[in-house]
Amino acid sequence: MGVTAAAEIDAWLRQGGLVITASERAARSLASAFHRARQAEGLSAWNAPNIQDWSSFVRSAWSARTLDGRLLLNSAQEQALWAGIAAADDRLATLLEGPRYRLAGLAMEAHELLCSHAPRFLHAAARASWENDAAAFSRWLNTFDEACRMGNLLSTARLPNEFLQLLQTSTVSDGQAERQQLLLAGFDRILPVQRAVFDAWGNWQEAGRGEAAAAIDFYEARDDQAELAACALWCRGRLAGNPHSRILIVTQDAAKRRGQIERAFLSQTGSANSPLFEFSLGVPLSQTALPRAAHLVLRWLTGPLAEHELDWLFSTGRAAGTPQETAALQAHMRRLRSRGLEQPSWTLQAFIQPFAGRSPDQDRDLSPVSDWLDRMTQVQRWLAEVARRPQAPLDWAELVPQLLEDAAWPGGRPLSSAEFQAARRWQQALEATGSLGFDGRRVEWKDFLSALSRALEETLFAPESRDAPIQIAGPAESAGLTADAVWFLGATEDAWPASGATHPLLPPEIQREARMPHATPQLDWDLAQAITARLLAAAPEVHFSYARQIEGVESRPSRLIAALAGAPQSLPAELAPAPSADPLTICIEDFSRIPYPPGRVHGGAGVLTSQSQCPFKAFATARLAAQSWEPAQAALTPSQRGQLLHAVLHAVWAGPTHGIRSHTELLALPDRRAFVAGHVQRVFEAELRPGLRQRMPARYLELEQLRLTGLVTEWLDYETTRVPFDVLKTEAEHGVSLGGLIFDLRLDRIDRLIDGSVLVIDYKSGDVSPKSWDLPRSDDVQLPLYAGFALDEDQELGGLVFAKLRPGDLTFAGCVGDPSATLLPGLKNHTALARNTLTAEQLIAWQEAIEQLAIEFLNGRAEVDPREYPKTCERCGLQTLCRIQEKQTVVEDAEDGEDAEADDE
Ligand code: SF4
Repeated sequence: MGVTAAAEIDAWLRQGGLVITASERAARSLASAFHRARQAEGLSAWNAPNIQDWSSFVRSAWSARTLDGRLLLNSAQEQALWAGIAAADDRLATLLEGPRYRLAGLAMEAHELLCSHAPRFLHAAARASWENDAAAFSRWLNTFDEACRMGNLLSTARLPNEFLQLLQTSTVSDGQAERQQLLLAGFDRILPVQRAVFDAWGNWQEAGRGEAAAAIDFYEARDDQAELAACALWCRGRLAGNPHSRILIVTQDAAKRRGQIERAFLSQTGSANSPLFEFSLGVPLSQTALPRAAHLVLRWLTGPLAEHELDWLFSTGRAAGTPQETAALQAHMRRLRSRGLEQPSWTLQAFIQPFAGRSPDQDRDLSPVSDWLDRMTQVQRWLAEVARRPQAPLDWAELVPQLLEDAAWPGGRPLSSAEFQAARRWQQALEATGSLGFDGRRVEWKDFLSALSRALEETLFAPESRDAPIQIAGPAESAGLTADAVWFLGATEDAWPASGATHPLLPPEIQREARMPHATPQLDWDLAQAITARLLAAAPEVHFSYARQIEGVESRPSRLIAALAGAPQSLPAELAPAPSADPLTICIEDFSRIPYPPGRVHGGAGVLTSQSQCPFKAFATARLAAQSWEPAQAALTPSQRGQLLHAVLHAVWAGPTHGIRSHTELLALPDRRAFVAGHVQRVFEAELRPGLRQRMPARYLELEQLRLTGLVTEWLDYETTRVPFDVLKTEAEHGVSLGGLIFDLRLDRIDRLIDGSVLVIDYKSGDVSPKSWDLPRSDDVQLPLYAGFALDEDQELGGLVFAKLRPGDLTFAGCVGDPSATLLPGLKNHTALARNTLTAEQLIAWQEAIEQLAIEFLNGRAEVDPREYPKTCERCGLQTLCRIQEKQTVVEDAEDGEDAEADDE
């Protein structure tokens, strides 16, 4: 809206006129502009402006003129009614709750479209010829109308139509003469029902749009990151020039790109504590910490929570009365994991089970959480008692705050202002769920929780506006907003005009005829054109931009914008982010080294492998006891499967009484598969923890046993093709002293080959290669370490190999002195095993490199220096500790800067 339009609205409001806006957001924006104008005039008091959004106007005008006593359904109530109708449809008898409510949402939309665009089809007779899905919807609409009639209910979507009827049949006492003249603002298009209502009202007019912006630009950016960065930089420049400047950023997908946008604007325009921007659209309440924590606590009282949900809940501190309790709960989770007791999901019962029967006086772990345990147990019992019978939704809604209070939600920490507002919104969502008893229904607790969950998904929450100078809105939500300058992001051909599909429950020809949204491409174009024209008049300066590449895909500029603003131009140089922008991370060269005390080191060969992969990894794991962890899975994790495989192979080659010890004994086995199956059976019985056995289906474990039996049998078949050998040791343990450090090594197997030398073997079920031993920085030093330092003096090394046990890839891979004579007869010359024979020089080089690694570890060398970034880091799991990403960002920025300088020269 240009200066003239803003002045027209302001003058109208000052005279006490009524302004109707398309949305609540536009009403708030106009009210703010009105108050700012009065403050600028130096006034200290003035009358509130008479501004109403369309929905509030219809509702208040209708209630002022009728006393028919019908209950106006809220959105949750109406959706429940439609869901009940869909569930009763014989053809959809098996519909699950999720799809049923999604279908109910679609039916609500279709109904709303008919009400606003084609009300004549609200009469059943007019829909008689509808077919297929439209016919099903028509049937449901008949049932819906009947339910409303019987229950004395009224859909909110019907309110404008009802109001229209009232206006059309109004008496002289409610005639046009008494109706205030209306000024409409922020309507990109006036829907047919709105036009009919305004016409029936009598006096109305649209606010003029005002002059289009004098300065219009259309920029082209390299990619969406560069586009966003340029926009944020431009905002910073404008606010630096005039801190009172008001800027409107219009963007598609504001919800999807929210995090990205926040980061870009925070980096350019200020701190997270007082950001200079705010989004006009809220986020679902289910994604807001306080309500989400409340919902999780309620769910946990009667059902399981996923492990990651529990981690999140404890991390918020909103599920325990004190910080000490929170810390104790987190410590309990860590203890469970360190004992291998993790689970994909936890019931409250299973979580507190380990504490059962223990006393806080004797149990160090128990005392910090004993109050929490008592509280949760009592709340759970209380709920179980009430939940024995279905209750009215209102009764459940009244019970919830008491349950949460007893469960210590929202924790002992005081609420911030935004949290306080979120808690208020949570209460409103709870009340809306409680209102589902409008038809006298009683529901189970689980159904009430599902309804509450839907309400949290559908309720948007945004903290109260701080009237920040930068407003970020979607194209439609920006209706009625004005600013000193506008920047429209994402003006690509695909995104603007925004396209969409026709509604699946309404006949396409009726949607076209009634000009419903997305019924034809021309309608999309017209709407986008109207919004663009409105934005052009919303500020004296308007910029559009698009990215040439989005997520690696080429895009083209919007034709609509190009027609208005001309072909896109490159971004001005001053809007290109400075290549050497100040990094968030400050680099400090830390040369300090704290020597490791000589003696035994935990972690065996893994410490030196880590030292070679990345010195910080060795420091963090061996000295700080840092660990990454595998999230629990419904099935066996890769590491659990690996442990079982090792255990079976150990048992097979362990010798009497059940195992064998040589090639000869292997060949003599009458039934290899039965032999292996026996070992697998015994290993599963002995090694599988009871917790795992209980939570995994017996049939699944049977299949795992079969899979393992097949794999190991195939491997033994392969080993029968070897040159005769004896097994000397399995799970061989050996202490090695290197530069004052003592490592406890453990090797899977050592064989004596036919020439008397020994072969060291490491079983692997993953994709490994002897290349991992390559110097100067090995990726794995376990076998070279063992081969170089752990053999007895009288043992001569014949080779070191990985035994690869992968389905379809069963082979030895490594270095052997004379592989065809001692390992596999008839080995082809071109194979890697035949080519990479073991040499004395190689062995010496490994020994020297390993000694050097031990010295570096001992001396305290602990730089963050991954062997091969990012591959090494992807397998490491310590990224949150070493913060390698931040370091890499700084390095890349510096390199970009150097490149730019080189380009300039
Ligand atoms: S994530 Fe990378 S840099 Fe960090 S400790 Fe692991 S290997 Fe080193």
